[in-house]
Amino acid sequence: MGYNLITNVESCYFEAPSILYYSHWPAIVIALLLGLFVYFKNRNDLLSKILFFITITFSLWSIFDIITWINPDSRKVMFFWAIMNFLEPLIYILMLYFAYIYVNKQDNYIKIKLFTLILLLPILILLPTTANLQYFDVPSCESMQGPMIKYIYFIEIFFSLCIVAFLIRSYIKAEKEFKKQIIYLSAGVISFLLAFSWVNIVGNLTTNWEITQYGLFGMPIFMAMLAYLIVKFEAFNIKMIGAQALVAGLIILIGSQFFFIKSFTNQILTGITLVLSVGFGWMLIRSIKIEIERKNELQEMSDKLAKANDQLRKLDNAKSEFISIASHQLRTPLTAIKGFISLLLEGSYGKVSKEVNEVLNKVYISNERLIELVEDLLNLSRIESGRMEYKFEKINLGEVCQEVYDTFALRAKEKKLYLEFVLSKDAKFEATTDRNKIREVISNLVDNALKYTIKGGVKIKLADMGENIKVAITDTGIGVPAEELPYLFSKFSRGKDVSRLNVGGTGLGLHVGKRMIEALHGRIWVESAGANMGSTFFIEAPKEMKTEE
Ligand code: ADP
Repeated sequence: MGYNLITNVESCYFEAPSILYYSHWPAIVIALLLGLFVYFKNRNDLLSKILFFITITFSLWSIFDIITWINPDSRKVMFFWAIMNFLEPLIYILMLYFAYIYVNKQDNYIKIKLFTLILLLPILILLPTTANLQYFDVPSCESMQGPMIKYIYFIEIFFSLCIVAFLIRSYIKAEKEFKKQIIYLSAGVISFLLAFSWVNIVGNLTTNWEITQYGLFGMPIFMAMLAYLIVKFEAFNIKMIGAQALVAGLIILIGSQFFFIKSFTNQILTGITLVLSVGFGWMLIRSIKIEIERKNELQEMSDKLAKANDQLRKLDNAKSEFISIASHQLRTPLTAIKGFISLLLEGSYGKVSKEVNEVLNKVYISNERLIELVEDLLNLSRIESGRMEYKFEKINLGEVCQEVYDTFALRAKEKKLYLEFVLSKDAKFEATTDRNKIREVISNLVDNALKYTIKGGVKIKLADMGENIKVAITDTGIGVPAEELPYLFSKFSRGKDVSRLNVGGTGLGLHVGKRMIEALHGRIWVESAGANMGSTFFIEAPKEMKTEE
């Protein structure tokens, strides 16, 4: 350096502004405290490394600033001032890097890094020359900035704009939950940079350097926002202890101000700040504690639930698989048995006696029940594994009900029950649904109605409900007690006293029916006034194809 410098400038033995300590030390210690804390908690995390680097750079800048204020040795003032001119733009660049990694979580822009390095290079090269600092002005005890300061401002403004643009873009693109984090991050970064740059620029323009002291208050704001992000969103994986350390550090720092501030006004100011910090700190820690506890409890519960759910799903899949295989294997022999009994009953293998005929009839009925059960199980496993296929078409439900009626008319007669179905000729009950599936469900309802009715009978009715066609199957049977109504359509659900009337029931028919009707965009439900009061089962099928909601 070609400077002609004086070791100790007599006139520079002045009392530094007391705000100097008030603004610098808390900012330095808070920054270092949080920076170090985050770094040691997440050593391998890039974001915490960048934060650590920012806090170190910022602290160096602040310490050098104190030195330039209080040191009367002009050589030292010039030396540290020169370095500060490099540290300052570095902080802006690091802030952009920090925001970028916070949002994007990954780092793969070698070209941009190279470009940034090239931008910084002139400052590093020209650091010890008069382009950076021209000379030491004895009357004002200050270094005079060289022409390079314009370039430094350019870099600072350029990176500030980049940060703002990046944060706005990220905010627009982010998902709802992440948007909140970006707002806190932006509030911290921007308030720090605004405070830091604004006062530096004003200081430079007016050469009233005292104003720069206020700029450092931006750092605690940035740190507070980070602390909030850490606690609220678990950025950096640190919880309670981070907030406690921050509050404790803040209180110790503010308290320690009392040792070196002399002015009465400042003492009052510090006193008030201390009381407020203790109060707010206590409230903050308490609320964070409650929130964290609640969050942890919830997390634990949801973890356990997820695990249990997973196991259940696996079991369920295994069960469906087993049922599917077992049913397939069962169906073939059952159908063969049915065929042979039919042949026996018809006398294809010779005449059978009355007794044998009776027994064969019983075997036939039992076999039918087994076939029904296997069919239900197969349907259930198809539905549960999503393999059930539905063929939607416009059909006349009147026709379908007529077919069902024809199938069951004889059975009703045998049981001495009436089975009614009245269809007016000109009425059209067209619905868009799967013909075979809906017939299966209606059949099952009529079958049940006949099974669970001892006296009276069953009526099948159709009604046009505007958007839907409604089928109602009303019986005068055993009815459904109120407490059983909510569970009737559940898997394997059977009424308490039904075994007497229907020995081989499984409790699957209604469940399978409900799943099918829902897949057909319809509705199925039951109404009953209570035990022995009869019941009505309803099905609603849409007239037009419904698009999925
Ligand atoms: P299952 O008839 O094989 O037991 P379902 O799923 O068809 O199985 O029926 C489930 C239960 O609903 C029956 O066990 C019975 O308690 C009740 N239920 C069904 N239909 C009627 C009806 N028409 N009247 C009274 N209860 C009925």
